[in-house]
Amino acid sequence: MTTLVQFAAFAVLAAMAAYICLLLFNGVRATQLSTGIADSERHLLQSRVAEIMGKWDFEREKNEFSWSGFRKFEIARKVPEGGGICSFYLRPHDQKPLPAFDPGQYLTFRLDIPGQPKQVMRCYSLSDSPKPDYYRVSIKAVPPPRDKPDIPPGLSSNFFHDQLNEGDILDVKAPGGHFFLDTAKHTPVVLIGGGIGLTPVMSMVNRIVDIGSTRECHFFYGVRNSKEHVMKEHLERLATENENIHLHICYSSPDDDAVEGRDYHHAERVGADLFKRVLPSSNYEYYFCGPPPMMNSLFEGLREWGVPEKDINYEAFGPATVQKKKEADTATDKAPAAASSEAAIEIVFDKSGKTVAWDPEIGSLLDFAEENDVDIDFGCRAGNCGTCITAIKSGEVDYLSEPGEKPEAGSCLACVSVPKGPLVLDA
Ligand SMILES: Cc1cc2nc3c(=O)[nH]c(=O)nc-3n(C[C@H](O)[C@H](O)[C@H](O)COP(=O)(O)OP(=O)(O)OC[C@H]3O[C@@H](n4cnc5c(N)ncnc54)[C@H](O)[C@@H]3O)c2cc1C
Repeated sequence: MTTLVQFAAFAVLAAMAAYICLLLFNGVRATQLSTGIADSERHLLQSRVAEIMGKWDFEREKNEFSWSGFRKFEIARKVPEGGGICSFYLRPHDQKPLPAFDPGQYLTFRLDIPGQPKQVMRCYSLSDSPKPDYYRVSIKAVPPPRDKPDIPPGLSSNFFHDQLNEGDILDVKAPGGHFFLDTAKHTPVVLIGGGIGLTPVMSMVNRIVDIGSTRECHFFYGVRNSKEHVMKEHLERLATENENIHLHICYSSPDDDAVEGRDYHHAERVGADLFKRVLPSSNYEYYFCGPPPMMNSLFEGLREWGVPEKDINYEAFGPATVQKKKEADTATDKAPAAASSEAAIEIVFDKSGKTVAWDPEIGSLLDFAEENDVDIDFGCRAGNCGTCITAIKSGEVDYLSEPGEKPEAGSCLACVSVPKGPLVLDA
């Protein structure tokens, strides 16, 4: 039903845009006759029309070929990229067409991992631009925490690396997520990937190049050293072949034999201090994804440099996201502050028979439930996979960050929600 409505809305918009284009063309023709308008302006107009048509096709492909629930995909290729990262090229098992997606979006996987009592859900960003015949994800094998080497390593990432191979079949949800680049826009952009946070911004830069956009793009990639530096040749080629793409490789701790100017450009972390030196101004849209310390320092640094919050876009690969210092101006952003100012909010976990005073320091309702030995299933811990959906018997919640898929009224995604006031949960 939603798809039908979206499609109808899209058809109306398309018709309106076609009409505007026609008027523009007629207008231009008339003006040309009387004033002899310059060829360059006509070309500009033609390229805008071509862009609009391309965008229509793209939107149509996104909607027409999408699916609900899980679809079977086969691993067509498994490619080690170095730095503990492996790329997986996925083809639909039904061999039907693949929907396009907005660069920056992710796939959600439902995995049957041997020895696990339940299916495991995890999200992985699409690391290439939309292609007609495959999706690509690039996954880093997560080791145990440094201070707890005896703990098992990351479940899903190591399953992909060690046990999944070409020909294996996976259950995959359609591309989703709100962190993406609007490629119909022409505003200059700064794309920033830290470590494995490279994946969504790689999809963005590839898309800019694929559609022949001349949009100015500064691409920053921060890693520790050459061992973590993946997709090096590909990025260099993009920058060499496209004068609008400016590549900035940052090594925070360069290896002894790495050469500045050849292997990397800056021996420092990606941050606002570097932007101030290498960008002509702060006047860009920023998109970034990386480890939590980088996310926080980038956000704060950009705000201090005067970049408006509306131009700062980011995604975290886990529960930790940007912690804003000042109270932000959206209802969603106000949530943690509002909750923390309340004294002793009572949370009832109805099924478990527990009533506990809310502790805002703990984080989300999922963290709070775990702290109190209440069992809530979870997957991505980032509001995307929907595994932690919990019915609310009474009360309301706020969201720490915009969930990937909004739950129905009367339920919440416990991993990214906090109570607004007293709350009774069916958990
Ligand atoms: C929108 C989105 C996009 C993403 N895109 C990508 C991507 O493109 N590429 C990518 O590689 N990742 C991506 N991720 C991250 C990915 O979803 C997984 O979170 C990541 O692979 C780790 O999952 P895992 O199952 O391997 O680790 P988990 O099993 O979840 O373990 C995580 C860590 O916890 C440790 N651990 C396990 N048990 C315990 C315990 N009892 N106590 C303490 N520590 C413990 C593990 O050793 C490991 O270090 C993305 C996440 C999101 C939300």
